[in-house]
Amino acid sequence: MSDAYTGGCACGAVRYEISGEPVFMNHCQCLDCQHQSGTGHGSYLTFGAEGVELTGDAAQWGKAGDSGNVKTRGFCPQCGSPVYLRFAAMPQIFTVHAASLDDPSRFKPQVATYHMRAQAWDRLDPELPAFAKMPPG
Ligand SMILES: [Zn+2]
Ligand SMILES: [Zn+2]
Repeated sequence: MSDAYTGGCACGAVRYEISGEPVFMNHCQCLDCQHQSGTGHGSYLTFGAEGVELTGDAAQWGKAGDSGNVKTRGFCPQCGSPVYLRFAAMPQIFTVHAASLDDPSRFKPQVATYHMRAQAWDRLDPELPAFAKMPPG
C-alpha cells in the first residue's frame, strides 16, 4: 500500500486525506474546466469516494457540464482555491485538482478528455491519448 494522498487548498482551511490509488488521472480541456481554471484545462485525479476524509468547510457550486451531468465543485471560501469535484450521477467517485495535492508530482496523467474543446495555445504532451469527449466505457 502506498501513502495516502493528502492535500487541500492553498491556505490550509480545506484539507483531504484519501486512501487508495486513483482510478483515473486526466487533463480535461472542456470549456467549463477552462473557465473554472482560468487556463486551457483542469488536471484531476479521481478516487473511490469511500476512501476520502475531508476536513474544513468547502464552499460548493454546481453546474451541468458538456456531458449534461451536474458537477459540483468544492473550493475554499477563504483563499478561493479549487479543491474537489463531485458528480451527481456518480456519487461513488471523488475527484481532486492535481495541484491541490501536497505533492503534485504524484499526478501521472493518463489521457486528455474533451480535446474537441481544446484551445490552439493549450498544447499537452502529444504522447497522451486525447479523446474528443470522454474515453469510451
Ligand atoms: Zn483555503
Ligand atoms: Zn472539464
